Amino acid sequence: MKDLTINTAIEFDLPAPFVGRHLIAGEWVDGAETSERVSPSHGAVVSVSAKGDEAMAERAFAAARASFDAGVWSRISGKERATVLLKVADLIEANVERIAIYETLESGKPISQSRGEVEGAADLWRYAASLARTSHGDSHNSLGEDMLGVVLKEPIGVVSIITPWNFPFWILSQKLPFALAAGCTVVVKPSEMTPSSTVMMGELLMEAGLPAGVCNIVLGFGQPVGQVMSTHPDVDMVTFTGSTAVGKMITQAASGTLKKVALELGGKNPQVICPDADLESAADAVTFGVYFNVGQCCNSSSRIIVHEDIAEDFVARVVALSRKVRFGDPLDPETQVGAIVTSEHAAKIDAYVQAAVAAGATVELGGGALSVDGLGDQFYQPTVVSGVSADMAIAREEVFGPVLVVMTYRTLEEAIALTNDSEYGLSAGIWSEDIHTCLEFSRRAAAGTVWTNTWMDGYPELAFGGVKQSGQGREIGRYGFEEFLEVKSLVMRVGRSRAPWVKQDV
Ligand code: NAP
Ligand code: MG
Repeated sequence: MKDLTINTAIEFDLPAPFVGRHLIAGEWVDGAETSERVSPSHGAVVSVSAKGDEAMAERAFAAARASFDAGVWSRISGKERATVLLKVADLIEANVERIAIYETLESGKPISQSRGEVEGAADLWRYAASLARTSHGDSHNSLGEDMLGVVLKEPIGVVSIITPWNFPFWILSQKLPFALAAGCTVVVKPSEMTPSSTVMMGELLMEAGLPAGVCNIVLGFGQPVGQVMSTHPDVDMVTFTGSTAVGKMITQAASGTLKKVALELGGKNPQVICPDADLESAADAVTFGVYFNVGQCCNSSSRIIVHEDIAEDFVARVVALSRKVRFGDPLDPETQVGAIVTSEHAAKIDAYVQAAVAAGATVELGGGALSVDGLGDQFYQPTVVSGVSADMAIAREEVFGPVLVVMTYRTLEEAIALTNDSEYGLSAGIWSEDIHTCLEFSRRAAAGTVWTNTWMDGYPELAFGGVKQSGQGREIGRYGFEEFLEVKSLVMRVGRSRAPWVKQDV
């Protein structure tokens, strides 16, 4: 593997395994059972977590419901809620290193990216604090002299938050501060593979003065904890990030009590590369888009659709850059791509590549597991696959690994058709120096986010989410915040002018 850039193991004393407990009504609670997480890069146990059951989930919802109904959070002022959220943001910043180390040890992602994830999350909390104070409904003062109408915004109630392993702290922060800003109370379940940063968040919430019972955390698996979270009659809304398959199961489970369901699911996100693009910038962004977070990212740009006149040159550029991307020890601050989350997931990634090869695709680079000195072989090589047709599984399904698929087009019409030929619709991008090409693509791409001449930039002020089977509802920004609010109309008579309905002269 001489032609790749590999960062071998650095000297590092692993910290003691983090012990994670449930947080119920402001108390830390041990579980009858525990589960261990073995670091994908180091093969050592890095955390031991309580493993929740149905009874623990019941306790969490009893606490969330009671605190919501008591009004200790749901009925206080936006100013008071914002004060707590701002304290949480400060505490996150003071604890970046501790949170980031365990995030990297549990997930396998590079430490630089864990640090970025945790630091960035503080900004989501600050932005949500601003919404807590500025949220308002509407007034209708033109309904007639004797009428005043007011549309009130109220917290939706008790919210289940279910998160995956790929960005445990960030995805929690895309949901939790917005739910709290709205006045909701919550029960959170992180992935059983990456629970520790969520428990640390619980510690920060208590330190910041969040009242007991407002945020409860139950550790454990989708079955049975996630199941209770989607069916419990005390739950008003479920917000979930993860696979499309589980998203569908949650929607079905929640239908029994007609809960609101918000879903952030997978993607098969394309970038279209036009012949007039700044190819140097585009190649760098494509390389970033496919390898960031080890390719285990709902927003990964796992497909590129490149004009056939420049395809050979462009693929050569991406392959050359891929050889320079630093793969290896996630604890090395220089590393850009770490380990794959589990060996089963690594096998799944490889199966997509081998099936594509069997169907006639060409591996331009990589295409197999990667062994890193001192760290074992739960890594996957930077992989570029060309000659891919739209019917191959590798072109249609979410691979969730460092694997780029190359397709070609001749006309913009064809590029847009390929972009939209997907069950997913999370994000899409285009690279062109022609504003008209960029605008036409942006309007016609079926996606929740479109990037022009950039990739994966995001801001708390904007909205995030997908169309088609990439999900429903939006996160972050004002639109994401509104998801946690219920709307109530208040109709008020002014004076005693109402004409009687019952005729008095009968
Ligand atoms: P997942 O199976 O969808 O799980 C996500 C979360 O849902 C976890 O906390 C999981 O718990 C929980 N869950 C599982 N079954 C549930 C159920 N029946 N009811 C309620 N909650 C349930 O995702 P994953 O196991 O983390 O990864 C599987 C695949 O999903 C990946 O290979 C990837 O393709 C995709 N994925 C997509 C995203 C994204 O952002 N779009 C993120 C992560 C993964 P436990 O896993 O702890 O049991
Ligand atoms: Mg799972």
